[in-house]
Amino acid sequence: MSFSSLSAAEIVGGIRKRDFSAVEILTSFYERAESLEPSLHALLHRAPEIARKHAAAVDAAVARGEDPGPLAGVPVVLKDNMCVRGMPATCASRILEGWIPPYDATVTELLETSGAVVAAKGNMDEFAMGSSTEFSAFGPASNPWDTERVPGGSSGGSAVSVAAGYTPLALGSDTGGSIRQPASFCGIYGLKPTYGLVSRWGLVAFASSLDQIGPFARTVEDLALSLSVIARPDPRDATSSRRERPDYFASLAPWKAPGRESAPLAGKRIAVVKELRNRKDSVAAEVDDVLHKTLALCREEGAEIVEISLPVSLEFGLPCYYILAPAEASSNLARFDGVRYGLSSDQKSLIDLYLKTRGSGFGNEVKRRILTGTYVLSSGYYDAYYLTAQKVRQLMKKEFAAAFAGCDLIALPTAPSPAFRKGELVNDPIQMYLADVFTLPVNLAGLPALSLNGGFTSGEKPLPVGVQFIAPKWGEPELLSTAAVLEKKLGTAKIAPCGCAKASADRAADAGIAGSERGGEI
Ligand code: GLN
Repeated sequence: MSFSSLSAAEIVGGIRKRDFSAVEILTSFYERAESLEPSLHALLHRAPEIARKHAAAVDAAVARGEDPGPLAGVPVVLKDNMCVRGMPATCASRILEGWIPPYDATVTELLETSGAVVAAKGNMDEFAMGSSTEFSAFGPASNPWDTERVPGGSSGGSAVSVAAGYTPLALGSDTGGSIRQPASFCGIYGLKPTYGLVSRWGLVAFASSLDQIGPFARTVEDLALSLSVIARPDPRDATSSRRERPDYFASLAPWKAPGRESAPLAGKRIAVVKELRNRKDSVAAEVDDVLHKTLALCREEGAEIVEISLPVSLEFGLPCYYILAPAEASSNLARFDGVRYGLSSDQKSLIDLYLKTRGSGFGNEVKRRILTGTYVLSSGYYDAYYLTAQKVRQLMKKEFAAAFAGCDLIALPTAPSPAFRKGELVNDPIQMYLADVFTLPVNLAGLPALSLNGGFTSGEKPLPVGVQFIAPKWGEPELLSTAAVLEKKLGTAKIAPCGCAKASADRAADAGIAGSERGGEI
């Protein structure tokens, strides 16, 4: 039996009622992955033995009449930069091949104590540097809506696992857009939490002041469910916030409260960004169209659409990010020296060991970042680049704070285009970097943002198009409640056809329009 269209909440409900077992759900995960992996390559490592033990423990708890936990029996894919004891964590890099972490990341611990079953590790761009998953040292993943195209990145494998129906839930990490952009390209939900909400302990660091772990899901309820499990204070992460976390479920349907007659988004001010008007040339027409249709839905539901201005963030966010993120990466990646982890080149001198291991272990994009980062931090250039970028980052934070004085949420395209073709941008770093022009300001400002599927492109193979909503710090409840209102109109996210010809034909007939009734498997 296939369980691929079930949400995480439905899986948990079914397991509690003993309609099916956690082991059956896990078996269905591996069967679906087995048949689709040859064309999608979403996974770098499957862990059936460890996973089966966890699933059996959930079933045993249910049999004993115990509470099996809020994520009981839900198979989860973790991006391969998160540590799970006993499973490889390669970060899609040769330099970490063979390294098995001896400990669990905090998110792993939280998921497992909630009954979730880590079933596999997701493909990604090497060390999370990229926007297409083509920079994986172990080969690219494919977009399940059109396998000639990229799924986005860097958390492409996690996004594909959810969009292709292997699992309802996966975790990614987002340093400049790596949850939201692949969520947009794959037609699902992706949430990048406020910096400090989810612990980074056990996440292999790329740029520590920007990295944040968050969920991919096909329903808003599953986003809330997973967030309530992973958003916990953690003394092992010095940047983890100790503030009390709200009840994320309470945000799902507050408009249904007794006595509340008004439209669900009444009183919400959702902002469009003035500078986007002048950037029409850099945003694909179909992306612009989906954004406007989504905003029209917000207005129908009672929201007021206002305009704000983000001149610094949209103009200087990208150069600022590509100074600060490589600077932090050059320092974080210094630990991969051939002595402590994974790959080690057999050399007579220590310097040769460093040079040969790093020379052969890192891919070209990672080397480009290390070189850039080392350069902008070097004596004589530090003030001109690193320090200036830090000042720009401060200006961006202030700019967002000022904008939120006039609105509750900001709406932007998640990415300037739908999924591009494999190979199209791989040799053009600047164009690849531009895929994140609308997402990375959010990381620089430390804010939460959610990408949802607003609609599809037209044509023979419709491609999903995401819309991004940005909230002030700790505004996850606001994001979830707005997404839940829109989900009622747009439907839950669809499972992609995954290269299956018949499904493509059916889909061409029924998809393609924002606002059509969606949901379920096709
Ligand atoms: N694409 C951006 C980069 O390559 C963002 C990556 C990310 O969020 N991990 O840096």
